[in-house]
Amino acid sequence: MAQREIEAIIAPRTPHFVGDGFRVHNFIPSTISMEHMSPFIMLDYGSKFYFPPSNKPRGVNVHPHRGFETVTIAYKGKVAHHDSAGNSGIIGEGDVQWMTAASGVLHKEYHEETFSKAGGDFQVVQLWVNLPAKDKMSNPKYQELPNDKISKVALDNNAGEVEVIAGNYNNINGSASTFTPIHLLNVKLNYDGNATFQFPTTYNTALLVIEGEIKVNGTNVNTDHLVVFKHNDEAFNIQALNETKVLIMSGEPIHEPIAAHGPFVMNTKAEIIQAFEDFNKGKFGYLEEE
Ligand code: MN
Repeated sequence: MAQREIEAIIAPRTPHFVGDGFRVHNFIPSTISMEHMSPFIMLDYGSKFYFPPSNKPRGVNVHPHRGFETVTIAYKGKVAHHDSAGNSGIIGEGDVQWMTAASGVLHKEYHEETFSKAGGDFQVVQLWVNLPAKDKMSNPKYQELPNDKISKVALDNNAGEVEVIAGNYNNINGSASTFTPIHLLNVKLNYDGNATFQFPTTYNTALLVIEGEIKVNGTNVNTDHLVVFKHNDEAFNIQALNETKVLIMSGEPIHEPIAAHGPFVMNTKAEIIQAFEDFNKGKFGYLEEE
């Protein structure tokens, strides 16, 4: 059977801290460029890491974003979020938060207080999804997707389950609304379970192994590794070598120029300069510092 071949299997880079609460391995844009995985322009993966108890929640203080969306997926631990559009929320295991920064917000992200006091394993993904030029200056938006509101599809032969965060799987639609076509799936496979996934050939497609080990089209892939696919065909197969969890992302590329600087991702340098000006003038609103 024809299959979508693996372009690269990428090991997690040496982790760095974002603030004092997010110990992450960056995959995009360090190893893979923004253009190469568009519309996925940043992927920080906080692999499972134990944080000792702390009375002062660890995290990232107030900072701006403009021009894209931040998607936070919690696997272990709890994250609290507040933004200058007035939205806030707490996400725990299996929950997702989809924040559309668009024209601009300030936000802060911290370990949730009770989790912070107790300490424990923490494991999260933060993905930045680019917006097309026409939507970059639209109004900020916030979608909280608690696990019980995320669509689930049982796989054949008791192989496991697919949580459809966005897009669709087997004609079941995902829970998040997106600006461009994106499929974002959390796949849980039982020992020896296997499943096939199919996306349009032109879509940029990758998977991240969150738990366990898998074979992709027969090739072994270890925990915390990212698989980037070629565009030669639509379908690929995953087989679980033990109890596994895999995040799959596939999206239609946005073929527009990218001008990125820190927390701003626009189309031109002039728009980046404008973003700094607007930020300095307080146009992103107000959010109290921790
Ligand atoms: Mn942020």
